[in-house]
Amino acid sequence: MNAADSRRLARSLENLGYEPSADVDEADVIVLNTCVVRQSAEDKAIGRLSSLKSLKRQKPQLVINLMGCLVGVHGNPALQKRFPWVDVFSAPSDPQPLLDFLSRRQEADQAEQWRREIDVLLDEEFGVAVPGEQRSVSENLPVVLGCSHACAYCVIPLRRGRERSRDAQKILKDAKTFASQGVREIVLLGQIIDRYGLDLPDSPRLPGLLSLLSDIPEIKRLRFLTSHPNWMTDELITSVAELPKVMPHIEVPIQAGDDGILMAMRRGYTNQQYRELVAKLRDRIPGVSIATDIIVGFPGETEAAFQKTYDLLADLRLDVAHLARYSPRPGTYSARELPDDVSTEEKMRRFRLLEDLQENILRELNQAYLGKSASVLFEYRIKGRWYGRTPTNRIVFVDTEEDLAGQERQVKIEWTGPWSLVGSLEPTGGL
Ligand code: SF4
Repeated sequence: MNAADSRRLARSLENLGYEPSADVDEADVIVLNTCVVRQSAEDKAIGRLSSLKSLKRQKPQLVINLMGCLVGVHGNPALQKRFPWVDVFSAPSDPQPLLDFLSRRQEADQAEQWRREIDVLLDEEFGVAVPGEQRSVSENLPVVLGCSHACAYCVIPLRRGRERSRDAQKILKDAKTFASQGVREIVLLGQIIDRYGLDLPDSPRLPGLLSLLSDIPEIKRLRFLTSHPNWMTDELITSVAELPKVMPHIEVPIQAGDDGILMAMRRGYTNQQYRELVAKLRDRIPGVSIATDIIVGFPGETEAAFQKTYDLLADLRLDVAHLARYSPRPGTYSARELPDDVSTEEKMRRFRLLEDLQENILRELNQAYLGKSASVLFEYRIKGRWYGRTPTNRIVFVDTEEDLAGQERQVKIEWTGPWSLVGSLEPTGGL
C-alpha cells in the first residue's frame, strides 16, 4: 500500500514540475512514507526523521513531509511538537496536504518575487534627485516596508506584504540626496521600525542606522516611527538618549488598556508591561515625549475594559494620543472571527471621553513650556507665521519677517494651548 501511495504522490509531484533525485542532499522535497506495523519500522522512520534535522537547518527552504501510519488518520500533535522541522504531516494515502503546501509555497514565491520587484521600484523612487525639485525641511524616509506581525484588526500585512528592511547603504544614499536638497530633518518610517535590519544578514540595526545617518552634516534632526512595545531594545533607547541628532520623541502605540482586549488584538504585551516601558523611557531619555495610538470599541470591549484604557491614559499623561474608533477591515482576523459588537454611538462616546481627557492633559503639560526657551526647527510659513517643532515634537508658531526655513533657533515660549505653542525668537547671540 505504501509503495503504491508513494508512486501516486511521485506522479503528482512530477505534475507540479518536480523530478526524482538520487541524492537526498540535493532534494527540495523529502517525503518519508512511514509504516508502524513493527516497532523496528517505526524506529527506522524516527531515526531517519531525526537525521533530517541538520539538513533542514542547512537548507531552510527544504520541504519535509511525514506521511503514513506514523501520522495516522487524525494527525498527531505529539509528533508535530517532537519534530518541528517537519513542514507537512499527512495521513496514509493522502497526498493532498503536501500538494497544497507546495502550491501555497509556489504562490508565495511568486508574490515574493513580485514584492522584490516593487521594492526595487521603491528603492529607485526614494530620494531620487530630480533637478529643481522642492523638498520639505522635514521628509519621511521609509526603511522597513510591510509588516509580519498580523495584529487582529490590521490590514497592513495583507496590503503591504511581509516585513522587508531596505538596504542601509541605499537609505544612506537617499538621506544624503535629501540633505543636498535642503532637508534638515529625516523621519525614518516602518510599521515596526525597531525591527529594522533583522531580516538582512550583516545589516546594522536601527541604532546603527541612526548613527550612520547622524554623520550627515546637513541633517540636524532624526526621528523614527512606529515602535512596538515588544521590540524597543535597551540599545535603541540608549541611542535615542545619547545621539544628539536623534530627537527625544517615541511613537509607541498601546492600542487598548485591557489585557483581554490586548490579547484579542494579538498585540503581545500587557497593560503593566506598557507602563513599565513608559517608566523606562522616561528614566533613560531626559525630557522624552511619548505618543501612543488607541483604538476604542474593539470587539468585546466592555465598559470595564474601556475604563482600563481611560485610566492608563489618565495615569501616564502621554504627550500625544492618536485615537481611532474600531472598524472591521475586510480580510483581517477580527473582521472574520469577532463580531463588531460595540455600537457606533458607544464607540463615539468612548472616543470623545478620551479626546477630552487628552486635551486637558496636553493643556497642562504644555503649560510647563511657558516662559522657557525651546530649540525649534522651522519648516514653512503659514498664514503669516513660521511653523516649527521642538525636539519633543510640539508645534511652535513664530511671527517674524525673517526667512527661517531649515533653521534651528531658540524660541521663548509666550503662549501655550493643547495643540501648539507660540513664541518669539531669542537673539542669536555669540561671537
Ligand atoms: S498594527 Fe502595526 S504591528 Fe500590528 S500588524 Fe498592523 S502594522 Fe503590523
